[in-house]
Amino acid sequence: MLEESEALQRILEPVEPGAVIWVPVELALDQILAQDIAGVIDSPPFDNSSMDGYAVRAAESATGMTLELALSEQAAGVDLRLKLNPGEAIRIFTGAPIPEGADAVIMQEDVEREGGAIAVTDGVVAGENIRRRGGDVCSGQKLLNRGDLITPARVGLLASQGIAEVPVHVRPLVQIVTTGDELVEPGAPLVPGEIYNSNGPMLQASVQSAGGVVALSHASDDRAVLEDTLRRAFATSDLVVIAGGVSVGERDYVKEVLNELGVITDFWRVKMKPGKPFLYGHHPDGTPVFGLPGNPVSAFVTFTLFVKPVIRALLGHGDRCLNESRVKGIAGTAMSNQGERPHYLRGIFEAGKIRLSGTQQSHAIFGLSQANCLVRLDPGQLVEVGDPVEGVMI
Ligand code: AMP
Ligand code: MG
Repeated sequence: MLEESEALQRILEPVEPGAVIWVPVELALDQILAQDIAGVIDSPPFDNSSMDGYAVRAAESATGMTLELALSEQAAGVDLRLKLNPGEAIRIFTGAPIPEGADAVIMQEDVEREGGAIAVTDGVVAGENIRRRGGDVCSGQKLLNRGDLITPARVGLLASQGIAEVPVHVRPLVQIVTTGDELVEPGAPLVPGEIYNSNGPMLQASVQSAGGVVALSHASDDRAVLEDTLRRAFATSDLVVIAGGVSVGERDYVKEVLNELGVITDFWRVKMKPGKPFLYGHHPDGTPVFGLPGNPVSAFVTFTLFVKPVIRALLGHGDRCLNESRVKGIAGTAMSNQGERPHYLRGIFEAGKIRLSGTQQSHAIFGLSQANCLVRLDPGQLVEVGDPVEGVMI
């Protein structure tokens, strides 16, 4: 059976970032830049006032001096191209262009208004309260690198440069196919023997949170229905993720049907718990397919470890997300893995400590819902309170 690390390596090896498309800056949040971005204008684009006050010559504006007020005033907006005459001050407001001849702005709190003149109560030095052209960003300056994450502040930076669209990698379309006769969609009544389809919405949300675009379909445990559903899934999506039906039960038709569709199974089964029956293959058209075990926790764990990194890699994240999601902490509770496979336990990482989150069975979704990380224990590993433990954030 394949080790999880080798499984991930084999899955990620052929993955290249997706095609580059230009999207409106405000829709690019949390995406990865596909090209470097350089400044296109100086910012600020012109010298301007950082205060409401008076544009002056610093040499004429020491404490105790008096200046005549010019008739015109300069507000933010259209540059009136005012000129400051000797012995004068021009009323000015925050963000307004500095009149020619002025070399400082004196705050309105630092003068006393006396009719058509001002008396300086606290003098200024040259350059005071002026934001210089290009003082923040110069045209041509490298602003962002290919591979950078677009954050709200970077959206602001790009917008301040007048940049309306940015190059990112196209979001992959991920088709989730749930399987099972026992499943009912949330919102419908349950009859005895049935359970709600929790994997569908959970995986849908997982794809969205990873940055993919998702479509959802369900197939009953019927060969023909599954084949038809999968055929359409391969025709319309970049990745196909099947949940359930991939194990060894009599009605687990996934492997068989994939085979009929010409899918090459790269591997089936990974040495881990939960998630052993995980399958990875390729349709003849190149579409990768992932078979997740049906138990919700197993589906979640295998999606997190093997599918999410593919979506992130297609979006251009590289190794960033793998590294960023790793967590190291000190065990707040004792933990052990008596099995022969690495065990991913649901944990809560808080203030440097990791404790376990409720019952650890692979159908038990409540504990998963409380968890914020998966703790990885090696086969035979015993962890005492205070020992270091590692995992991944979820
Ligand atoms: P399977 O892998 O199809 O044998 O399913 C394993 C277990 O997971 C069974 O108890 C199924 O009822 C359950 N299961 C499969 N698919 C889902 C789903 N979409 N939502 C919730 N439970 C599921
Ligand atoms: Mg099933």
